[in-house]
Amino acid sequence: MKRLLLTALCAALLLTGCAGPGSTSAPAPAPEPDPGSVSASTSGSGGDSASEGYNRRETIDRPEIGADVVIDPPYDFDPEEMMPTDFGDYFVEEYPVEVSSYKLAEGTDVENEVTVIKGQEEGPSIYIVAGVHGDEIAGWMTGRLVKKATIKAGTLYIVAPANPWGASAEPRTRYVTEQQDLNRSFPGDPNGTMAERAADSIYQDIARVDPIFLFDLHEARANRENTDFLGSSLIYTSLDKMSDMYMDLLIATELGEVGSERFNFYGPGPIGSINNTVTTNLEIPTITVETYRGYPLERRIGDQLDIVEYVLAYYGLR
Ligand SMILES: [Zn+2]
Repeated sequence: MKRLLLTALCAALLLTGCAGPGSTSAPAPAPEPDPGSVSASTSGSGGDSASEGYNRRETIDRPEIGADVVIDPPYDFDPEEMMPTDFGDYFVEEYPVEVSSYKLAEGTDVENEVTVIKGQEEGPSIYIVAGVHGDEIAGWMTGRLVKKATIKAGTLYIVAPANPWGASAEPRTRYVTEQQDLNRSFPGDPNGTMAERAADSIYQDIARVDPIFLFDLHEARANRENTDFLGSSLIYTSLDKMSDMYMDLLIATELGEVGSERFNFYGPGPIGSINNTVTTNLEIPTITVETYRGYPLERRIGDQLDIVEYVLAYYGLR
């Protein structure tokens, strides 16, 4: 079963992997899901109030164009006051850690903060940039929840939200300000627009840390005409240095071991995105996680926590 899946995924990924960084992001021909494997198991059953009341493995089809999709109705819970374990069996085991923080672009209008969690054992560094788009709340809320988590080895760097201006705007927006898209502004410019200056400060810090892997936590927007329906997906620009991990993660979502449904794979990240720029310029393997905003928030946060923890474990941090 696993070998068959792997072969299909490898073939499909080889096809999409040929696309150069200049090409537009196009959906890969994803293999047909195996209904038996998808419905066979559940994951992340926490028994807490936030994760009860729905079937985590229940998937949806792309909504009709023009159909109303309710995005983030008022919730009766506040992730700011919760722990990862409130969303399921995520980051359950606790380890002694050192937590510190430092500022990016201190004293400027693009100041932000990096949280550093250091485990007791030697290990690699992983960097998490969460919420480059301010309205994709499960992305940066997950980043903020992971700030409360612990690791046994290595070092974790977390910026969440990476776009606090869009995240605190009313209504929230993907932009930093005035249609400036942080995720089309990398590697940035210290003398450029606000988005370019914010991008520069984050990009320079990633280059300085030189992590073994970068997470870029986003959410897929609701259905729109003439755009790909990303749904739940894992976006990569190159599989160099992470092909085994990426493949194993994808298969784990297929088999129901990780996440609430099978994640799709797409690539490359658009020009100017943190994914494409960090992968291409710094040769740091990067995955952009997209969760579909039409799902309940607790499901999206649960999926993002599950994927982050899986990768941290893969690199020995947990
Ligand atoms: Zn986004």
